[in-house]
Amino acid sequence: MNSGTSIRGLFEEERPLFSVEFFPPKNEEGGERMIRTATALQPHRPDFVSITYGAGGGTRKTTMRYAKILKEEHGFEVMPHLTCVGHSKDELLEILEGFAEAGFRNVMALRGDPPQGESEFRVTEGGLRYASELVALIRDHFPEFGIGVGGYPEKHPEAPDFETDMKNLKTKTDAGADFITTQLFFDNQAYFSFVENCRKAGILIPILPGLLPALSLGQVQRFCKMCQAFLPPELEKQLEATDPQKHPEIGSKWTLNQVSELLRENGPGFHLYALNKSKSTLAILEGLSLGS
Ligand SMILES: Cc1cc2nc3c(=O)[nH]c(=O)nc-3n(C[C@H](O)[C@H](O)[C@H](O)COP(=O)(O)OP(=O)(O)OC[C@H]3O[C@@H](n4cnc5c(N)ncnc54)[C@H](O)[C@@H]3O)c2cc1C
Repeated sequence: MNSGTSIRGLFEEERPLFSVEFFPPKNEEGGERMIRTATALQPHRPDFVSITYGAGGGTRKTTMRYAKILKEEHGFEVMPHLTCVGHSKDELLEILEGFAEAGFRNVMALRGDPPQGESEFRVTEGGLRYASELVALIRDHFPEFGIGVGGYPEKHPEAPDFETDMKNLKTKTDAGADFITTQLFFDNQAYFSFVENCRKAGILIPILPGLLPALSLGQVQRFCKMCQAFLPPELEKQLEATDPQKHPEIGSKWTLNQVSELLRENGPGFHLYALNKSKSTLAILEGLSLGS
């Protein structure tokens, strides 16, 4: 069992970090798949792993359950996510207390997506409206926690324009965030411009690029639509021209090329949206060690 490292401290080591995101499995079978993935990734020693936080009561308990398994049985530095959805401030503090008691030292502070079937985020009575308020709450009550926040290279879908989104991101980071993990993107130029604009806006904390190794054409089109991310025609063309069974191979090669370029340009590392599967992540890690 590891004793808990602040991710803030890991960034200070000034070497590229590698992290993986899990999501709370929906059933025991999904849980077994996730554990198999964690076991396969363990020898590669990700600097940290994160686990998302759902909008339904059941999935919240699952986040905690699997966060503990990842920490205690796999020895990962685990950063549970927490969202404002459906929680009062007191409940959020109680959950954070639970994280601290379980030995977690880092938390990803998010506003959260609306629960399934709802199209708009609604503030819970006695709750918080923006992730920046959650960051401030954590900083006030748990100053020792490392805090990650989300950033959107291609703009958060609800934001009216890039400038407003950047201003809101600055408020969030000024509230005490230690680093930003980005929404997925398939064109590195979006990340490079985002970092440049953040620096111009005085946002100086590390910005970890979040990448999704595509598994299929349909999946990548769905994600791009949902996140309003640009789908490079070249990637789409490659997927269209390939047997669907080989799509994960195309996806991991694309991500490997993205990672290689990001590292060459001295990026702070990379975060993989692995979707509880190990194959693409392992292919990317192998590709990197071969010097691709
Ligand atoms: C790395 C990462 C991990 C994620 N993990 C999860 C997860 O585990 N669970 C989950 O449900 N969702 C998750 N999400 C999705 C996220 O919850 C959604 O994108 C959500 O819509 C916004 O969350 P946020 O924390 O970025 O919100 P915020 O930073 O609060 O921003 C939300 C919107 O409000 C605007 N805004 C912010 N502050 C202000 C202000 N003061 N005044 C006016 N407007 C403002 C922003 O510009 C933006 O448009 C994740 C996203 C990322 C990038």
